[in-house]
This record gives sequence, C-alpha cells and structure tokens, in this order.
Amino acid sequence: MASGFVLVKCNCGYEQPVFRHAKSVVKCANCSATLAEPRGGKAKILAKIDKELE
Ligand SMILES: [Zn+2]
Repeated sequence: MASGFVLVKCNCGYEQPVFRHAKSVVKCANCSATLAEPRGGKAKILAKIDKELE
C-alpha cells in the first residue's frame, strides 16, 4: 500500500519526500524553493517527481 509520499527533486538537485496531501507549503530543505502547495485535497507538486514512495 502506498504511503502517499513522493520523492521530489528540486532544481538545486536536492531530493526529499513530500506528502501528496500536504496541508502546508513544502519547501526544499536545502535551498528553500517551494516544492509543493496545498490545494484543498492533493497538494500541487511544483518540483519534479522522481518516484512514488511505498
Ligand atoms: Zn532546492
């Protein structure tokens, strides 16, 4: 069963897991770029999705 997390890759090259239903803005831990924004249901993922995490 999927956890609902995806691994995203920031433009700076840093990769981090992001919850698909994030309720707040998710920022890159390395460069503070916005990676995802809440959209009421699924978050809008702004960075490149590398893979789904299980
Ligand atoms: Zn970054």
